Amino acid sequence: MDIVIIGGSTAGLAAAIALQKTGHSVRVYEQSNLTEPTGLGVGLQPFAVEALMSIGLTNIASLGVPILSTGFYTPDGKLLYAGKKTPEGAVTKVGIKRAVLQTALHNEALKCLGPSSLYSHCELKHCHQDDNFVYATLHDKQANADFQIKADLLLGADGLHSTVRSIIFPDQMQFNYSGIITWRGMTVADDFLKGRMLLMGGRKAKTVIYPAQYLPNGKVKIYWAAEVLQETQVLKTPIRNMPGHFDEFAGNFDGFKFENIAVPDLYRSATDVLKFPIVDREPMQSWVDKKIVLLGDAAHPMFPMGGNGASQAIVDATTLARSLRLSGNNVSKGLNQYMALRLKKVNQVVRSNRSLGPDSILTDAEASDAGMIKIDGLTHYREILEGYKSLTQPLGV
Ligand SMILES: Cc1cc2nc3c(=O)[nH]c(=O)nc-3n(C[C@H](O)[C@H](O)[C@H](O)COP(=O)(O)OP(=O)(O)OC[C@H]3O[C@@H](n4cnc5c(N)ncnc54)[C@H](O)[C@@H]3O)c2cc1C
Repeated sequence: MDIVIIGGSTAGLAAAIALQKTGHSVRVYEQSNLTEPTGLGVGLQPFAVEALMSIGLTNIASLGVPILSTGFYTPDGKLLYAGKKTPEGAVTKVGIKRAVLQTALHNEALKCLGPSSLYSHCELKHCHQDDNFVYATLHDKQANADFQIKADLLLGADGLHSTVRSIIFPDQMQFNYSGIITWRGMTVADDFLKGRMLLMGGRKAKTVIYPAQYLPNGKVKIYWAAEVLQETQVLKTPIRNMPGHFDEFAGNFDGFKFENIAVPDLYRSATDVLKFPIVDREPMQSWVDKKIVLLGDAAHPMFPMGGNGASQAIVDATTLARSLRLSGNNVSKGLNQYMALRLKKVNQVVRSNRSLGPDSILTDAEASDAGMIKIDGLTHYREILEGYKSLTQPLGV
């Protein structure tokens, strides 16, 4: 089948590799430069690491930092609950720089598809379909010219502001604001985390901290996100990579500390700080319009609680390729199978993240401390964490 993918990020490149490897002819069109990826840290769940390995990124864990355990802490560093340590030899969660993940996907895509099937600086403007083909109009930003293409199937892997989604489901573009602004950055520090992910704080201010890259000098690049509740939406449009400043948020984290590290000092040592309003969109009833299908953030943008955005996008990609293969490349059957395996499941994750997913351990602990609810600490926390893990675990094909 001749398949066109709009968007060359996590979902788009993973799908391109998986589909090419199952015998399709694939082209990817990305509006930015595929060889200059940006972004900060991304968490990959074990099932996403396995999915990436299955399409050829066998060394993905070694490009980031294996996360051996996740701990939930009070602002002053008291451990509330530590998730189970990953057993020796098992596939772990991985913290990784987004640019490193993108480069690994791009390199694998170059090997499978070849450079002539990977187009940078090409932005989808419009698409439509008839009984036989999907037709798309793109703008080549370098040549400043529009051009037309056609394909048997078009994948909308074009993220949060998906043009493909706006064309096939124009009435489903409303953002839902969480009430939380997140400031994010990366700091080079000594390896005090030793493969641990920390979640710390409560309803008004919460931070997530994990290592994302080992450096040759023995130091580590640590990714952090500082989330602050701001009921009034101050950032109207969720634009990635909007610059932020330490003074805008750090006051909310006075007194936050882990072992002998003052969390605001970690923030202050970052070179760049980005800010972003946490948003999602209402879960959909369908991601498919005949020969056009959505995946990743285009289909199901979600709050980052639980660190599932990239992971669910990767599993969408591999599941879509397998569903098409198992349906004998019958588009309609294959896409229905893809949705049967993914849609309800991912919609549950979107909804769970709205009630903070596993991070509700922190808010429940806070409420319990203030006498607002009564919980049996460890059992309650274990149920939250294990419940979330099984909710997010993909269904097999
Ligand atoms: C620049 C950027 C930085 C990010 N940084 C982080 C981060 O630091 N941490 C984190 O957890 N998540 C980050 N994300 C989000 C994260 O990549 C996604 O949530 C997740 O990986 C799901 O990926 P996706 O491929 O579905 O969507 P995305 O990663 O958003 O990718 C969508 C891709 O489609 C392209 N695109 C959009 N519209 C068009 C169009 N009309 N024509 C052609 N191409 C188009 C975009 O340029 C982008 O490359 C970032 C996303 C972007 C785009």
